[in-house]
Amino acid sequence: MTYDTVTIQRLRALPVFSVASHLGMTLYGTGHTCRRCLCPLHDDHHPSLHLNAPRNIFKCFSCGKGGDVISLVMQVRSLSFPDACEWLVREFCVSVTPSEGSGKRYVVSGYPQQSTCGEPVESTCGEPACPEPAERAGWVEPTCGEPVESTCGEPACPEPAESIESTLNVQLVTKSMSVKSEFCKSVVSCGYLTEQQLQHAVQRYRLGKSRDGGVVFWQIDERQQVRTGKVMYYLPDCHRIKTRNPTWVHTLLKNSLPKGFTLHRCLFGQHLLMSDGRGERSDGRSMNREPVICIVESEKTAVICSEHFPDCIWMACGGLQMLSAPMLQPLTPYKVVIFPDTDPQGDTFRRWTAVCQDARKQYHFRYPLRISSILELHTTAEQKQRKIDLIDFLFEGHTDSS
Ligand SMILES: [Zn+2]
Repeated sequence: MTYDTVTIQRLRALPVFSVASHLGMTLYGTGHTCRRCLCPLHDDHHPSLHLNAPRNIFKCFSCGKGGDVISLVMQVRSLSFPDACEWLVREFCVSVTPSEGSGKRYVVSGYPQQSTCGEPVESTCGEPACPEPAERAGWVEPTCGEPVESTCGEPACPEPAESIESTLNVQLVTKSMSVKSEFCKSVVSCGYLTEQQLQHAVQRYRLGKSRDGGVVFWQIDERQQVRTGKVMYYLPDCHRIKTRNPTWVHTLLKNSLPKGFTLHRCLFGQHLLMSDGRGERSDGRSMNREPVICIVESEKTAVICSEHFPDCIWMACGGLQMLSAPMLQPLTPYKVVIFPDTDPQGDTFRRWTAVCQDARKQYHFRYPLRISSILELHTTAEQKQRKIDLIDFLFEGHTDSS
């Protein structure tokens, strides 16, 4: 099987920790960026092989071997380049399915084919781009500057497939991470989180900062693949700047994206579902029981709630209109509770209830998909008029709310 460059790019982006684990290597250490292993390429008695997550590479400081994840599979399994790619495709369920028509399309299994979503894409208004131009151009390059072993003259599939579920370079996320956006500053100054909680939340949700001070809410799926990022602008009172539309990282990058780039959004916070199907608590411990996933509308609510209610995994769909049945599909194995915001007529509640009914018809959920009526039942008419959300409800009286 020959894979096109986009598929190979996607294979290279598979997280090096997971690839090493799948190869049977034992990972030492608890760091999020670096782990060590006994090098399987020679008789190693002290873990000499380092795995670097931000750069997604390995390097043995004893025998000197190193490279990307494909190279790791080639060396550990003694496989050729195509066979190593095949192995990764199989182990990580990256299925390659033929489509009608001439070309082939490559689909990550578990996600149904769908249109580029009928969601209204916010205007990109002439905002300065958030990532550095070099980084923008760099997203199609190999994920490391390390002496990666040549990926050999593998003939690339000539034409890009028509419907590729494309992902962005994880380095965009790593480089953007910051506690200095106006959003982060205001979350602390308004008393929603302590400095320490904020730093923790930034690491956990990988919150970024754009050059013009916006916060980047990345949409990363449970395979740690970066779908896109939403850049939003906040005031010092932790409310959004109403006159300034959010921008999307994939839109900002559009000139450097490959032909056929197909965006599939995912929930903000979806990456907190680990690939082995267990969630990670916000204190870093694995969940003993199956996690409860809480879905809210705004990213801000998810970030703040995650620090106050660490027993649940908080995710956000990013807007009233954004919640859709396909978006809920990756959550079928989990206990899910959905928290609609309020409004005077209860429209949001009804709309999201309908989405849940739709999802139940389309997919088999292991547990009943629950809609929380806490806000419907316990808010005043005046609060409904203000369309308050869970955070407003929990914090009213604690902060100045205007
Ligand atoms: Zn070695």
